[in-house]
Amino acid sequence: MKNICVIGSLNMDLVVNVDTMPKPGQTLLGGNFKEVPGGKGANQAVAMARLGGNVSMIGKVGNDGFGKTLVEALKSDNVNTDYIHTADSSTGVAFITVDKNAQNSIVVAPGANFEVNKEDVDKNIDCIKNSDIIVIQLETPLETVKYALQVAKYLNKYTILNPAPALKLDDEIISNVDLLTPNETELEIISEIKIENEDDINKAARSMIAKGVKELIVTLGSKGSLYINEEKSFFKPAYKVEAIDTTAAGDSFTGALAVALSNNKTMEEAMDFASKVGALSVMKEGAQSSLPVLEDVSNFRG
Ligand code: ADP
Repeated sequence: MKNICVIGSLNMDLVVNVDTMPKPGQTLLGGNFKEVPGGKGANQAVAMARLGGNVSMIGKVGNDGFGKTLVEALKSDNVNTDYIHTADSSTGVAFITVDKNAQNSIVVAPGANFEVNKEDVDKNIDCIKNSDIIVIQLETPLETVKYALQVAKYLNKYTILNPAPALKLDDEIISNVDLLTPNETELEIISEIKIENEDDINKAARSMIAKGVKELIVTLGSKGSLYINEEKSFFKPAYKVEAIDTTAAGDSFTGALAVALSNNKTMEEAMDFASKVGALSVMKEGAQSSLPVLEDVSNFRG
């Protein structure tokens, strides 16, 4: 099996349930409060490890209780945390409010995640050197993302960029990506092409390929996912399940893809595996708490 290196964010999610979202200036009494390990980088690393992937993570936490809890959570899921260091800022935190229709609104204080810099990529180069697949998101500084992709491509690694949360990306970033995994909204932002129908998705994806991305998988929520490269495209319908909470569907999907590819599966097989994992993740509440283990996937009859 090949090794995977994730470069990305760790956040403590502070979640409170409310009936309706607060208006500006309003104070509301909410319901239950939960502290849940999150951050796209950590979510994807945990997704991979639970599915049997050999995964190490480069990232930063603060010298505080949240930081310690997050690193322990990764360790208990068998993610190698040797490349996670302590920063001067506080650990990244996400304040999440969920209303009774399961809509959420989120404010992220990135803290230590924004201290992951080029020097950290150099200092932890062994994580990249010892891996075959490098997985990055956009919750660390864009300069770091750009540099990590350059270094990974220089070392001949297969690079996966999950462009979330979406930002406009320069051509140098795009040209060092082997596999891009946006959802529809993210594709619209990075391609700057308004997406209203299937043709627009194809057009936007092709514009990314023209800029040097080798292949894309556009995730389309409960509809499924679409693979596109220079020569071909195919659609994989989603499994029909009852969705309870779609948090981390994209993280679980990208994580599962990386694990399947690290096991030398074909792209068709990898997408089927990731679609099962995505479906399983929406059947449970939360981010890391909703991520399935390999046995759940084997037992899943979609
Ligand atoms: P994101 O969380 O990044 O917006 P998506 O919502 O597109 O990502 O979900 C990623 C993948 O997870 C989808 O392509 C699909 O395979 C699976 N998935 C997401 N929502 C559902 C759902 N309601 N039912 C079944 N599968 C789903």
